[in-house]
Amino acid sequence: MKLRFIGAAALCVALVSGGCNGFVSEVTMGGAPTAADAKTFLDQANQTLDRLVVEASQAGWVGQNFITVDTEALDARHSQLLADAGARYAKEATRFDKIQVPADQRRQLDLLKVSLVLATPSDPKEAEEVTRLNTSMRGVYGKGKWCPDAAKPESCKNIDDITKIMATSRNEKEVRQAWEGWQTISPPIKNDYTRFAELSNKGARELGFADTGAMWRAKYDMPPDDFTKELDRLWDQVRPLYLQLHAYVRMKLHQKYGDVVPANGPLPAHLLGNIWAQDWSNIYDLVAPANADPGFSLTNILERRKMPPLEMVRTGERFYTSLGFEALPKTFWERSLFVRPKDREVVCHASAWDIDNQSDVRIKMCITPTAEDFTTIHHELGHNFYQRAYKDLPVIFRDSANDGFHEAIGDTIALSVTPEYLVRIGLLDKAPDSSRDLGLLMSRALEKVAFLPFGLLIDQWRWKVFSGEIKPAEYNKAWWDLRLKYQGIAPPSPRGDEFFDPGAKYHVPDNTPYTRYFLADILQFQFHRALSNTAGCKTPLHRCSIFESKEAGKSLNAMLSMGISKPWPDALNAIAGTKQMDASAILDYFAPLKTWLEAQTKGQPVGW
Ligand SMILES: [Zn+2]
Repeated sequence: MKLRFIGAAALCVALVSGGCNGFVSEVTMGGAPTAADAKTFLDQANQTLDRLVVEASQAGWVGQNFITVDTEALDARHSQLLADAGARYAKEATRFDKIQVPADQRRQLDLLKVSLVLATPSDPKEAEEVTRLNTSMRGVYGKGKWCPDAAKPESCKNIDDITKIMATSRNEKEVRQAWEGWQTISPPIKNDYTRFAELSNKGARELGFADTGAMWRAKYDMPPDDFTKELDRLWDQVRPLYLQLHAYVRMKLHQKYGDVVPANGPLPAHLLGNIWAQDWSNIYDLVAPANADPGFSLTNILERRKMPPLEMVRTGERFYTSLGFEALPKTFWERSLFVRPKDREVVCHASAWDIDNQSDVRIKMCITPTAEDFTTIHHELGHNFYQRAYKDLPVIFRDSANDGFHEAIGDTIALSVTPEYLVRIGLLDKAPDSSRDLGLLMSRALEKVAFLPFGLLIDQWRWKVFSGEIKPAEYNKAWWDLRLKYQGIAPPSPRGDEFFDPGAKYHVPDNTPYTRYFLADILQFQFHRALSNTAGCKTPLHRCSIFESKEAGKSLNAMLSMGISKPWPDALNAIAGTKQMDASAILDYFAPLKTWLEAQTKGQPVGW
């Protein structure tokens, strides 16, 4: 699963904080605050954040679409202004902790306090240092290259080159070298990360949290420890399915590669088609069930029809309007970026934006006619339709119910892109019969089921680093202990503490929380099952499409339009009729595959 982030406009409650220099407090300090002061404070916070978010979005859009030294500087400056405001408001909101205020105001105050990803310490020097460390670690990652031959600069490989080798090469030695090569980029930031954790913890403690990890977990409308238990519960639900997939893939890779892949024990980290072994789609050809080829390739269809990028986006939009959502505004079509421009540098990484907090929504993508991009379009539009649904709430409430929800919506819709749906919109003549379901389910499981333990373990590692349970001398050992525990994966060669392998995953140096992707993976199936029921679907879950169901659209909109104004269990209840996250929908979805996997691995070892 790729990171596809939402634009700065959606970041008002997901701030990357900086120092507070230059920020002028708008609430009269001194004396005991009153309920009226709290109201004034919130009015001003909403107003100021609204303005800063719009300015940061505009600067961000220009910075990423016309990359020059100046636009990058403007982008950084406006992000910093927004971050400074966020840090200041988080601290000021604590002044009203003991004041009686109406419930919706109490929620806004609480959200301001948990909105930060990075809380900078109040000492300006330390605030500056921690912000600088964050930027420089991200820079080291972004510029990361592996040079197999130091004397030949042309031999250097960046992340795109290495990703391609991991995806396509079936030469074990070549893949192992590329895998080891990418992880040479991160040892230089290990000391920086240690210092970064120390300073960010200091900032979090000033806001009353035990450490940065506790601050991150506080966003989930329950005590941080209860949230950890929730994650364990969800993982226990899906683990048996993962174990079957793991055992089957191990058997197939053992047949292919011999003893490099043990018949029993963990999978080697480098042979799963992806640098982090987080998405195994690229090895589909090695594990495909016999006689289950779906008989069509969406990529081939899009290529053959020469479907223009704009038409691909129109098709995505039509899915949402078929549910009853209003069409995207004219400005979306005028201002979005759909094709890589020839005349300038742009950040092509797909993203969705909400520039003015009202109707100026956009996507930024360099679309190619592939099934993957077709899915990504639905993902990004999910962000845009969410943003429009909550646009009339106070600024502080304009976000998803929790961060997993925002990532889950578009993926939920993409689960409805079934063969029958493709027939209905005229892209496919005839849907394959159910004997071909295994092929479709396997390819989806390699993406969505394989991802689950990875989505979980990144923050398991970081929370323990922030809490001090994992000491700097054990960073790498603890990382591999967790990868073994959750993923059943081991490195192909010893990884001592001279390495810093967690730093070779973008979200660690970038300091982006990761649990949201685990939650999104769980939630999208729960949403899909609930909406399919609402739409009256009677087929097996993986064949259900909610296309054209106004009832499903109404239920979805009821949740989206709540934004983050209510605790997420209430939002979940609006769509799924329950306040509990439930991974059993994944089990329902993949039930035919699980039965088949169990037959394949009969008599074979399962687990590691
Ligand atoms: Zn996204």
